[in-house]
Amino acid sequence: MLILGLGTAGLAVRAAPAAARRKAARLPAPAPDLCPPPRMGAMSDVLPSCPQCSGPYTYEMGALLVCPECAHEWSAEVESAEEPQDTAIKDSVGNVLADGDTVTVIKDLKVKGQAQAIKVGTKVRNIRLVDPIDGHDISCKVDGFGPMHLKSSVVKKV
Ligand SMILES: [Zn+2]
Repeated sequence: MLILGLGTAGLAVRAAPAAARRKAARLPAPAPDLCPPPRMGAMSDVLPSCPQCSGPYTYEMGALLVCPECAHEWSAEVESAEEPQDTAIKDSVGNVLADGDTVTVIKDLKVKGQAQAIKVGTKVRNIRLVDPIDGHDISCKVDGFGPMHLKSSVVKKV
């Protein structure tokens, strides 16, 4: 059984080019025994072409994308990495913030080592987004206070 199985697989790979191309035209997903069926409909339309031969008959096999024309297999992960939405820094009301934005402070903020607080409504220009330090993910300069780190949750985009 095992020997027969291996032999068949080897034959299929070697016979690939012409036969696979003809088959692929009619049947985008030649289904090897252990593969789940490819997703139908809209999903299969958005699969990228093969990076190796540009074949358009890409199908999914678990976490991999497979090209039936050249038997190239690659990970689909790279494609879905295009949307870093989850890492977006948002202000107190959910606006996505970007470098260079102007924001206002939505509540009085006590500043360590200073008698004065940054007052609600203070405008902060040209913010810079940084990796959070204790939850402070905005680097900026506040008039009268100098360089500051703020939490995005205490500002509102203007
Ligand atoms: Zn290919």
